[in-house]
Amino acid sequence: MKFMDLEVETLDAMLPGVREALQEHPLSVLESRESPGIGIFKQSPGPGLLVQREFGGLGATPLEAVRVQRAIGMLSPSLAVGTTMHHFSMASIVQLGEASTGFEWLLLEAVATDRLIVASGFAEGRAGTSIFDPTVSATRVDRGYRISGTKRPCSLSRSMDLLTTSIAVEPEPGAEQVMAVALIPADAEGMRVEPFWNSWALAGAESDAVVMTDVEVEDELVAVSSVGFGKELDLMSQYALQWFSLLISASYLGAVSRLVQMVLEYERPLESEKARLTIEVEGASMILEGLARSMMAGEQEGSGLTRALTGRFAIQQALQRTTALATELLGGVAFVSAPDVACVAASVHALALHPPHRIAATPTIVAHAEGKNAHVL
Ligand SMILES: Cc1cc2nc3c(=O)[nH]c(=O)nc-3n(C[C@H](O)[C@H](O)[C@H](O)COP(=O)(O)OP(=O)(O)OC[C@H]3O[C@@H](n4cnc5c(N)ncnc54)[C@H](O)[C@@H]3O)c2cc1C
Repeated sequence: MKFMDLEVETLDAMLPGVREALQEHPLSVLESRESPGIGIFKQSPGPGLLVQREFGGLGATPLEAVRVQRAIGMLSPSLAVGTTMHHFSMASIVQLGEASTGFEWLLLEAVATDRLIVASGFAEGRAGTSIFDPTVSATRVDRGYRISGTKRPCSLSRSMDLLTTSIAVEPEPGAEQVMAVALIPADAEGMRVEPFWNSWALAGAESDAVVMTDVEVEDELVAVSSVGFGKELDLMSQYALQWFSLLISASYLGAVSRLVQMVLEYERPLESEKARLTIEVEGASMILEGLARSMMAGEQEGSGLTRALTGRFAIQQALQRTTALATELLGGVAFVSAPDVACVAASVHALALHPPHRIAATPTIVAHAEGKNAHVL
């Protein structure tokens, strides 16, 4: 098997036709605001990738999911990043369903069978604040909540059918404020999308702003969490963040793999340089697959999230080195004669921008290295 064969085979087996449909378009189109990528994903069984088979999904294991995501990242970094946000929402709902009355299962089935796109709004475009500290407010109304605020950037914003979003629930007098996660139909009254993403890099992920004005949501669409405001993360959030760390790393690993493949197919670079590049990128892949296998072995509790974060930051550093080396080996003519090298090289750095920030994760990583157990991001 040659470089990337395993990932491409997994993509073809799980989402037949997606690769061919994406390959009909140049990278510059797939990475633009007009990208057909999310539409192609929506027509495939992709929305149900993480949904269990009994509910009509593909029930992908973490190992299968990271391989699919890496292959998609190689074809379109924007699509991989955007769909990671969908899968993050789905992983959270799957986990909620473990302790549920049945509503979550109906939702999972609807997503898989009707191929719904579920965006994920946690960031609010305020530098220096935790994603677990939302300002989007929710006040109690009869049998539900009234929600107002803005989520940005919010990938998949123009294609979403549903949005999962963190909210701060106004406390009863004398009680503490709590964070909750709401599921809101994209066409609910009071929902609108505004331009926000003003960069050409990753523009195909549709990461604009979602504005909510007095949006009313029923009780059963809101899950109150013990997370947030400096508290220890609960197991559901740890599990969902573990999935996110794996899938977002796989997405950018795929993007860099495109550059590596270009180098491997180019006869001019020395064998030793090709080997150095392969060691970097396949080493990162081995970290990723090791984390996926450990999730499958049920090691996600306890130190699972810290291991996933540590692995993600190791991959992040490896991808920065790989991108610089691959760009150098491809040379100036490749850089200036087509937009692909610059496009991928610029996009890859965005892995460092996804939460949690490396600096925000530092206390958790150091605490674990010292034998303490803490997950506060
Ligand atoms: C392509 C893309 C798509 C995205 N899509 C979504 C989406 O769909 N939904 C979503 O919710 N989010 C999404 N995000 C994530 C969201 O963009 C980030 O939460 C946001 O980028 C964080 O903004 P920031 O980097 O300016 O802020 P910060 O993370 O606050 O970083 C700003 C600066 O603060 C410093 N810093 C950070 N934390 C600490 C700390 N604890 N102590 C000291 N210094 C610190 C960092 O060095 C950094 O320089 C997406 C991001 C990207 C790149």
